[in-house]
Amino acid sequence: MQLRQILQDSTRTLSFEIFPPKTAEGEKNLFVHLEKLQKFNPTFISVTMGAMGSETGKTFDIVERINKNLGTHGVAHLTCVSSAKDEILKSLEDLQRRNIRNILCLRGDPVQGSKTFIAPKNGFHHASELVAFVREQTKDYFSIGVAGYPEKHIEACSLEEDLDHLRSKVNAGADFIITQLFFDNADYFQFARLCRSKQITCRILPGLMPVTNYTQIQKFTGMCGAKIPKSTKKDLEEIQSNPQAVKSYGIQHATNQALELMGQSAPGLHFYILNQSESVEKICERVWY
Ligand code: FAD
Repeated sequence: MQLRQILQDSTRTLSFEIFPPKTAEGEKNLFVHLEKLQKFNPTFISVTMGAMGSETGKTFDIVERINKNLGTHGVAHLTCVSSAKDEILKSLEDLQRRNIRNILCLRGDPVQGSKTFIAPKNGFHHASELVAFVREQTKDYFSIGVAGYPEKHIEACSLEEDLDHLRSKVNAGADFIITQLFFDNADYFQFARLCRSKQITCRILPGLMPVTNYTQIQKFTGMCGAKIPKSTKKDLEEIQSNPQAVKSYGIQHATNQALELMGQSAPGLHFYILNQSESVEKICERVWY
């Protein structure tokens, strides 16, 4: 079923983002974690596509397995990286063959070591072009999501300019937005307000990542340009050598964020779970009832 319809019919949604494991053992473990999270009845689970647009088939396999075995909806991420139009077209046909109706259209990151994204030959420069192509080729078959950046995308000169580009993605046919992770809800609330002022009216699902490891979160935020607030950074620095304390802190921080977001009518919660269930299970037990 398409998320477009589900989003219209529900007041708020719960969703998780995972990545395709590299090994069969990893996949087995992943599904053990996902089974544990089924008690929260998630609206969808989205599956990333490898950094170089690699492992398209693996992403689709996992989404298919989610659709068939978990009783929830899988969302396949699709990037412009390394794919010419004809390859994207083949991916769209593959998705349709597998009866996958929900996708997240992304540009993807520049190759490692480069600051600029180089579009593949006969491919797309921006996610908006991908969204337009998917709509042109497949009409309403897919429900399409796109990425939004409460603290602006790392390459954008300003939030204003980035929002104009976000509006192009929505105008090209996107049905919903999932945000980059953020640690300060004020950034999300401001972003949502600015989106509305630019006539971006679709759902903006806030993306939360419970911190489980300080070094790892520094790396992620460094790559994607999200900031760790000063006080959070200070707290984490003090406990970084105690993994259990960091996990507990991450659970508490994300719980506080989730409670405030829901209290102020955010349309859902999207958790980046890094293929683990422990932290998000504890958070959902406190916030998702
Ligand atoms: P775009 O929307 O194309 O924007 C990229 C930059 O170009 C922005 O700075 C924007 O302002 C600018 N821009 C857009 N249109 C124009 C225009 N017409 N003219 C000039 N500038 C323009 N990466 C993966 O590789 N695989 C994944 O599975 C994946 N999943 C993600 C899921 C979420 C929810 C998020 C938030 C990110 C994800 N990413 C993933 C990372 C994403 O690919 C990067 O953030 C990437 O750098 C930008 O992708 P985008 O789709 O937002 O690009």
